[in-house]
Amino acid sequence: MRTGTKTASQFDVQRIRADFPALAQTVHGYPLVYLDNAATSQKPRVVIDEMMRFYTQDCANVHRGVHLLSERSTAAYEGARETVRRFLNARSTREIVFTRGATEAVNLVAQTYGRANVGPGDEILITALEHHSNIVPWQMLAEEKQAVLRVAPVDDRGEVILEEFERLIGPRTKIVALAHVSNALGTINPAAEMVRIAHREGAVVLVDGAQAVPHMQADMRRLDCDFYVFSGHKTFGPTGIGVLYGKAALLEAMPPWQGGGDMIRSVTFEKTLYNDLPYKFEAGTPHIAGAIGLGAALDYMTAIGMDRIAEYEHELLEYGTEALLGVEGVRLIGTARKKAAVLSFVMEGVHPHDIATILDRRGIAIRAGHHCAQPIMERFGVPATSRVSLAFYNTRQEIDALVEGLGWVKEVFA
Ligand code: PLP
Repeated sequence: MRTGTKTASQFDVQRIRADFPALAQTVHGYPLVYLDNAATSQKPRVVIDEMMRFYTQDCANVHRGVHLLSERSTAAYEGARETVRRFLNARSTREIVFTRGATEAVNLVAQTYGRANVGPGDEILITALEHHSNIVPWQMLAEEKQAVLRVAPVDDRGEVILEEFERLIGPRTKIVALAHVSNALGTINPAAEMVRIAHREGAVVLVDGAQAVPHMQADMRRLDCDFYVFSGHKTFGPTGIGVLYGKAALLEAMPPWQGGGDMIRSVTFEKTLYNDLPYKFEAGTPHIAGAIGLGAALDYMTAIGMDRIAEYEHELLEYGTEALLGVEGVRLIGTARKKAAVLSFVMEGVHPHDIATILDRRGIAIRAGHHCAQPIMERFGVPATSRVSLAFYNTRQEIDALVEGLGWVKEVFA
């Protein structure tokens, strides 16, 4: 067994693990080895505590009451927005809209910006490695507007072919939507470069950061994308909360999405005047506790340091890649030169679901399936893969346990 929990950067993973109560449990009598972080991540105690504090002390609606609890609740909610702004290095909190998650954020852009700006014959460009939530909303929009959905292909490593991407962008391209990191393959797209290419042709770019924000710095001023989305629950925060970042000028010009309370300035039966950014896009009572929990999660990651997280995970991914390649019959799906956190693989003679089921009996949680990215599975000629997805609290010992687990899988199928 290869050991060592501290890397060259002296990342104290055991100390970090102690912050995550869920990691300390046993599953089917074995210590939990949680390797399904791309689906959702575990939560540090500080996130749980902050949400508990909201519900036990500060629970009141935001932006409305004049009483103290409402003031505290509003301050915490808006404080979380400022935390997100800082985390993304956005220029203003006006550019930070809370949503239910990445999916809702993409749909918001498709149905507001998209509906207002895409017409018959216009084009929307996505890439072949998108999650369904960055495919289907654009397909729906294209159908509604008789627009054309184009797809930039990937090569055998799972990297978007940049020349093809560039070739597919033309004067009719209104929107380009691309993943920062692929959930199925782990490919890190050269997002800043792709944004530059798209902007040269005048297209607006949405970057899906759902699998990037938990692992690396996502800097809005450096990326210069027009929209960026991510989910709280994949970022060590709660479920039901996510973020849409949008450049203020674009959000300003967009029609609102849902109508209701809080998104208005004034309402008469004849005419409604809409609220300022970002509230124009936050109809109804928001997920206040969720935003507070997300803020705590982002602060937690910042305290560790995003560069240190990325460095540690990179070493762990290299260790895991080598370890999996050492297992006879295992083939990695997705071998991009720049990858984050994901090891998708198939094993000769064993269905991915069987692998995941047997590993679960040993306390090892991985995902099997198409990972809500059926087109990229098809591109690689497989209906499904087994997917190991890492977080900064995972260890080399857990990778060793996985490899040992794959040995049991082989024994079962021998
Ligand atoms: N985009 C990517 C790349 C994802 O991996 C996911 C979820 O797996 C999503 C978007 C959708 O996230 P959510 O279901 O939290 O809205």
